[in-house]
Amino acid sequence: MDIKIPFGLREGKIVHISDIAEVERGLRCRCICPQCHSILIAKLGVKNVHHFAHQNVDCPFALETALHLFAKQVLEETKYIHLPKVAYYWHAKETVMYPESILYFDSVTIETRFGTIVPDIILRKGRSELIVEIKVTHEIDSDKFDKIFSMDISTVEIDLSSFDNTNFNKAVVTRAIIQGLEYKEWIYNSKAMAEEERQQKIYEKDQAELNIQRAKEEEELKRQRALNHSQKLIRVQRLLDLGTIVSLRNRWEKEIADNPLWIDVSKGLSFTLFNLPKYLNSEIEGELVFNCDRRIWQALLFRVFCIGSNQRSSLVGVKSVIEWLKKKPYPLPLNWDMMYLKDLPEYSNHPGIAEVICEFFLILTQYGLMKPTDRTLATRGAAYYWWFERISSKSSQKYQISTDFLNLHKEAKIVELQRVKQASVDREERELEYKLSREEQELEDRLDREWDIEYRRNYMAQKAKVIAERVAKEKQIKK
Ligand SMILES: [Zn+2]
Repeated sequence: MDIKIPFGLREGKIVHISDIAEVERGLRCRCICPQCHSILIAKLGVKNVHHFAHQNVDCPFALETALHLFAKQVLEETKYIHLPKVAYYWHAKETVMYPESILYFDSVTIETRFGTIVPDIILRKGRSELIVEIKVTHEIDSDKFDKIFSMDISTVEIDLSSFDNTNFNKAVVTRAIIQGLEYKEWIYNSKAMAEEERQQKIYEKDQAELNIQRAKEEEELKRQRALNHSQKLIRVQRLLDLGTIVSLRNRWEKEIADNPLWIDVSKGLSFTLFNLPKYLNSEIEGELVFNCDRRIWQALLFRVFCIGSNQRSSLVGVKSVIEWLKKKPYPLPLNWDMMYLKDLPEYSNHPGIAEVICEFFLILTQYGLMKPTDRTLATRGAAYYWWFERISSKSSQKYQISTDFLNLHKEAKIVELQRVKQASVDREERELEYKLSREEQELEDRLDREWDIEYRRNYMAQKAKVIAERVAKEKQIKK
């Protein structure tokens, strides 16, 4: 293989083919190969580009060696080199440490300690060193990079691989070596590396501190959670204590007539405390989630969600009722601890707000005022996801809605009244019966007593008679 090399070695100096005069063509050039030191022929023909050629010798690395030697020679002559900017990369972000610069150095050497095939040029200034890599065909291999890394010597690469045999123009290549920043790149920069390591250390330290902080916060959170849990448990236990419930109910019972909330709630209804339908005073397990008399919350939910003239849809979701109750300002006083009890294993089966609301709507369902939707009935999920349909707004006509509802309500009321009436009839009957029985008893007693008296009277009379008769007889006998 005949490589057309643009450089030859003459008396220890690299000579470019363009420096060979016409009279020196062929063997008269007195040049040898920089790599294998065999005699070169200067080919200055018209057909091919001017070049040196070996005489039947296979010398694949001639070009690389020649270029290294040429670069060394150029650098020795100028004693300076333009260097690219120095930047470090941290988390995919580039930070420039030093801008592009010119390095003036004292000496240039070619070192072969990294291998003989691609030697490196080393620039020295005082005690510091800079490696210059000339890339012709070979990329720097990982072995070499590891060595550079472990020696911690900054290395800049000059990439001459874009040049080929036809354009190794001496001036252009010289410029590429000295000035051409577009051909240069830091393969390793000790300052950038030191900065990256520093950043890494800071990052690791921060990370470690952050982890400690996080662990602390987590522990605090855990502690807080445990504390909250035990405090909530105590409050719930207190609330569910029978004594508490009874005393709360008694207090509410006494206060309800003057309770501003009740006054406000009952405004929208045609009921009073004295004719309140039974379904608005239903005892429901877990009802203490509402921190007020049950008549207040039941009447309010009934007014808003069952009559619900201000509700657009005829459907009411338990979830949306809860959302409404949580809206500020709160429409009703709530015992927040009782809202959700699933997190207390001790009370996980105790009904929370969703179950209480669902139960209330189911009671209204019994009175024909509401109805769980078919979908709810089909799925039978948790109370929170139940949906009810308001019977009152089944018709699309608003007027119709209210009359429908009023009729239903009237019916419910009639049923209720009949029940009350029946109860009072029953009571009257019982009272009458009792009265009658009492009278009967009294009569009997009286008769008994009268009979007694009569009997005694008769007895006494009889006795008196007998005595009288006896006395008379005795008198007759004496006579
Ligand atoms: Zn050679």
